[in-house]
Amino acid sequence: VKESLRGLSPYQPGKSIEEVKREYGLSEIIKLASNENPYGSSPAVKAAIAARLDHLAFYPDGYARTLREKVAKHLGVKETQLLFGNGSDEVVQIVCRAFLEPGANTVMATPTFPQYRHNAVIERADVREVPLVDGRHDLEAMLNAIDGDTRIVWICNPNNPTGTYVNETELRAFLDRVPPHVLVVLDEAYYEYVAAADYPQTVPLLNEYEQLVIMRTFSKAYGLAALRVGYGIANESLIRAIEPAREPFNTSTIAQAAAVAALDDQAFIRACVERNRAELERYYRFCEENGLKYYPSQTNFLFMEVGVDGDEVFRYLLERGVIVRSGRALGLPNGVRITVGTKEQNDRVFTLLSEMLGKAQ
Ligand code: PMP
Repeated sequence: VKESLRGLSPYQPGKSIEEVKREYGLSEIIKLASNENPYGSSPAVKAAIAARLDHLAFYPDGYARTLREKVAKHLGVKETQLLFGNGSDEVVQIVCRAFLEPGANTVMATPTFPQYRHNAVIERADVREVPLVDGRHDLEAMLNAIDGDTRIVWICNPNNPTGTYVNETELRAFLDRVPPHVLVVLDEAYYEYVAAADYPQTVPLLNEYEQLVIMRTFSKAYGLAALRVGYGIANESLIRAIEPAREPFNTSTIAQAAAVAALDDQAFIRACVERNRAELERYYRFCEENGLKYYPSQTNFLFMEVGVDGDEVFRYLLERGVIVRSGRALGLPNGVRITVGTKEQNDRVFTLLSEMLGKAQ
């Protein structure tokens, strides 16, 4: 294999429900590890999928025309401004494939979503990681890390695993200073969940900044993580330049149909986002009542510090049927990242954490 692959391990996803059932002999498992939508997806999705089941012998529409029209209309952009991927994971891969090579470098925060680094390493580009400050992107230090060989700067907004965000003023000031030869990728996987009034309206920024790529996904608020649909939004010329790096049939017929139906049901998204917000507030209150530090979040997950090693909290919850992510695996060893679940799921988390904290005292 290529030298660049040798130091890499495959992506380590959160444990699956089946895995934990088997390992711990438990029947009831709550999975709050991968920031999935605990309310599922729009009820319209199942019918949309069923209607495509007679078409499985045919290749999908490689250009995802119907989905493309819908998304373009929804965002108010041209159809030619979109790039679809097998999840936004694949959009990351395509962008890296298109822009990175040996001798080039790429700038990102740490910790952040690990696939930027992973794909950059595969392309044998140099990775420049800039530590978060108080859980937030240090944009000044990121600007300082840019040089003539920098091809991509990544801003995960809101950031995974902290849930923190770069606001409109900060983002504009940053974009004004990024040299024109550098692509800026704004990963907005959790966009639908954002509530902050000063969060940037990013799509209109495409008119001002040629080098911008926005990424979004159907895996989070839309509840279609299993079907793998993500997309990039950028200026037409940029999309045209990147497209040849995309596999011809990278989103399936089923996935495209499901995404169309999910996009049509905005009432479902609003309801999920509202419930998420109310439950997130309960997490804040729980943390405050128990003196736990947390990062205020614009997403459907929360990073909290529980006063002991993240692995310990992870194991305590796992043995009792709740799967979360240890901060240790995410570059923040003193805490855990918990997906905000339904009221009942979160109640269970609060009960278990209270028990654990009681024991630790
Ligand atoms: N970006 C971020 C910030 C994420 O948290 C995730 C999912 N964990 C992704 C991208 C990838 O999502 P998907 O490939 O399912 O669209």
